Amino acid sequence: MRLILLGPPGAGKGTQSQQLVEKYGIVQLSTGDMLRAAVKAGTPVGQKAKDIMARGELVPDDVVVAIVADRIDQPDAKNGFILDGFPRTVPQAEALDLMLKAKGTQLDGVIELKVDEDALLRRIESRVAESKARGVTLRADDNPDVLAQRLKAYREQTSPLVAYYAGKGALRSVDGMASIPAVTAAINGLLNGSKEKGPAKTRRPRRKDGSVRDGADQPGAGRRSAAAKIARKTANLGALTRGKAGN
Ligand code: ADP
Repeated sequence: MRLILLGPPGAGKGTQSQQLVEKYGIVQLSTGDMLRAAVKAGTPVGQKAKDIMARGELVPDDVVVAIVADRIDQPDAKNGFILDGFPRTVPQAEALDLMLKAKGTQLDGVIELKVDEDALLRRIESRVAESKARGVTLRADDNPDVLAQRLKAYREQTSPLVAYYAGKGALRSVDGMASIPAVTAAINGLLNGSKEKGPAKTRRPRRKDGSVRDGADQPGAGRRSAAAKIARKTANLGALTRGKAGN
C-alpha cells in the first residue's frame, strides 16, 4: 500500500498516518520529521533547511526529493508507505511519479483531508498550548506568524496538487473536520472500496499440463525490463534533480 496524505498544516495528517501504519503494516514517511532530524543532527541538509523551516517556507524541491528517493529505497519501506508532507509542490509530485515508475510501482491513492482555515488556526493554537503545558519544547515554526506563512505556502504551492492528482483519477477526499475516529473510518472505507474496485489480478499462464509458466515468456516480463531501463536511467534521480530550479 503506497499512499499520500494531502492537507494543510494541522489537518490531521500525522494522526491519521499513525492508524494507517498500524492497520496496514506500512511505514510513515514524514518529510517534516526527516528534515527536523537533519536540523537537529546538523547535517548539510539540516543546515540548508533550518532557517527556511523556521520561516515557514518550503525547502527546495531537489533537497526534499533526494531525501525521499533515499528513504523509500530502505528495506522497511518495501511493504509500502504513507507519505506525510510530501509531495508539497507539483515538481515534487512529478519526481515521485518518476521514482515509482522506475521501481515498476505506483501509488494506491492520494487522500485529501479537507479542512477550513479557521479550524486549522484553532487546532494549532491548542496544540501549542498543550505542548507548553506539558513542558514539551515547541517546534520553531509553531507560532502565529510562521503558521500564517505555512498556510500561505500550502495555498500557493501545495494546493495545486489537488487538481494534479484529481486529473490522474487518484484523488480521494475526506472531511477532515469530523472527529478523529470518523476521519479514520472514512479513510478506511475509501481504501477498502478502492481495493474492491482495483484491477483484476492477472491470471498466471499455464501450460497444457496445468503447471504455471514462469520466466521471460510471461506477460509483464517486457514491462519489467522496460521498468529496469527507466530505473537505470533515473537511478541517480537525486543527483539529476540537484541544481534544477527549486521552489
Ligand atoms: P506541517 O504540515 O505541520 O506544516 P511538516 O512537519 O510537514 O509540518 O513540515 C514542516 C516544515 O518542513 C515545512 O514548513 C517546510 O519548511 C519543511 N518541509 C517538510 N516537507 C517538505 C516538502 N515536501 N517540501 C518542502 N519543504 C518541506
